Amino acid sequence: MTRRDFTAAALCATACLRADDHLRTLKGTLTPDGLRTPDGQIVKLTGDAPTIGVLNDKRVQGMQLEITGEPSANGAIRILPIHKQGMFVLKGDKKLFVTYWCDVCSIRTYTPGVCLCCQDETQLDLREKLDF
Ligand SMILES: [Zn+2]
Repeated sequence: MTRRDFTAAALCATACLRADDHLRTLKGTLTPDGLRTPDGQIVKLTGDAPTIGVLNDKRVQGMQLEITGEPSANGAIRILPIHKQGMFVLKGDKKLFVTYWCDVCSIRTYTPGVCLCCQDETQLDLREKLDF
C-alpha cells in the first residue's frame, strides 16, 4: 500500500462513517455547471475521478439524473464513490445505471474513455441492471 492509498482509505473511513446520516438525494438535469433542480437551482457536483468523468460526459449532460451524496460546506454535493452507485439516469419510470461498453471486447466500465483492451472509445450504455 502506498502512502497515498493509505491516506485515501483513512479519509474514506472518516467520511463514510459520518456520511450515512446526512446523505442527500437530488433529481435534476445534468448541465456542465452542475445539476439543475426542478426549481431552477444549480447544485455543484463533485465526486471521485470516475464519477467526475461521467459528469463531464457530453452524452450524459442534458439527461435527468438522480444523485445521492454528501453535502459539503460550499454547497456542492459529493456523490457517493462510483462503486456505491450514487448516480442514476432517469428515463420514464426507470432508474438506469450509467455504464460504458466496448462491443469488440465485451468489456464494461463505469467512466467514459477508451477500452482498456482495444483502445477504442467506449459507448455509453444505460442499463436497468448490472450483470456481474
Ligand atoms: Zn475493446
